Amino acid sequence: MSTNADWIAREQTHAFEVYPKRDLVISTGKGARLWDIEGREYIDCAAGIGVANIGHCHPAVIDAIHQQSQELITCAGVFYNDVRANLFSELARIAPSGLNRSFLCNSGTEAVEAALKFARITTGKNGFVSAMRGFHGRSMGALSATFKYRQEFEPLIPGHDFVPFNNLEKLTEKVDANTAAVLLELVQGEGGVRPADREYVSAVQDLCRREKVLLIVDEIQTGFGRTGKMFACQTYDIQPDLMTVAKAMAGGLPMGAVLCSDDIASAAGKHGSTFGGNPLVCAAALATIRSIEAENLPQRAQNLGERFRQRFSSKAPEIVREIRQLGLMIGIELKTKSRPYLLKLLERGVIALPAGPTVIRLLPPLVISEDDMDTVCDELLDVLSRAEL
Ligand code: PLP
Repeated sequence: MSTNADWIAREQTHAFEVYPKRDLVISTGKGARLWDIEGREYIDCAAGIGVANIGHCHPAVIDAIHQQSQELITCAGVFYNDVRANLFSELARIAPSGLNRSFLCNSGTEAVEAALKFARITTGKNGFVSAMRGFHGRSMGALSATFKYRQEFEPLIPGHDFVPFNNLEKLTEKVDANTAAVLLELVQGEGGVRPADREYVSAVQDLCRREKVLLIVDEIQTGFGRTGKMFACQTYDIQPDLMTVAKAMAGGLPMGAVLCSDDIASAAGKHGSTFGGNPLVCAAALATIRSIEAENLPQRAQNLGERFRQRFSSKAPEIVREIRQLGLMIGIELKTKSRPYLLKLLERGVIALPAGPTVIRLLPPLVISEDDMDTVCDELLDVLSRAEL
């Protein structure tokens, strides 16, 4: 078996269908490039949906996994572990100030589950307010706080309310004596790459403090350099009570975490995870954090993102409604459906993502070269200026 079609047929026979797929079998990756099983090369602007921030198969992560796999792969959280201890220290060092503690898990949705539970246990209240168009994961708790993808799974967990994003008045109306926490993305990812307004975010923080409501910021997509700082909270200059991270945290291996302040009550004996914080993934996360800093990737994301926006905006075709961007989190909203353009880009060797039906989302590895970003920009401009699609 060696063609795309062969492997597609095999996956289709036994896989449970949850994703709308593209006809592409990706088998190799290096930096910001991917190759399919037939050897065709692509510029990757998906990064495993915001996972491969330091690039695919980064040598530091390969080394870390290789070395740690010879020492210890699993170690339950009921024991202490040296590598995990180092990761806790590193997370506290790079986190927005005040977030000294973390709980380690294996994915974004698990991080959100944990944050919701920690918020309830800390406040003794059970209500949550999150934003319309927000996305926080697909397990029942995280889905209850998510605006989309929920209908078929209802009834979900009661106590979750939604307000329009960037609207302080509506949020203020919704927060009441039963609200444990407000949960927000600072740039809505799945919801169409929509950055929050600075004044809004700072006013939300004030509101939460005034009303003694916890502020949970979901940095699962924005974290680890993506938006031009290590975390978007640092761009917005806020200090949430809890912050959820995952995706890019461990160089491509599954990992998530909730970072929180010392004031968040202990949940000792009330929450846990078998695999969370295993030494293999902790070693990969340590190597990832080191690489992000050593290669100055947040600054790189900021520079390349701004360069792209300027280049693209100056020639944006009629079909483009708006470009939204923070660092290398880029959304191009069209006046029409984006899927035909995504397929056309793929034919030209560029892998990009949707974010809703009309938005093209670019989340390239932050190590992408300036030349590759320029190529992506030129291909996009060309594809979008063709009226026949
Ligand atoms: N929160 C945000 C902001 C996300 O973008 C995602 C995934 O796209 C999640 C939560 C869920 O993460 P995971 O797919 O790792 O469960």
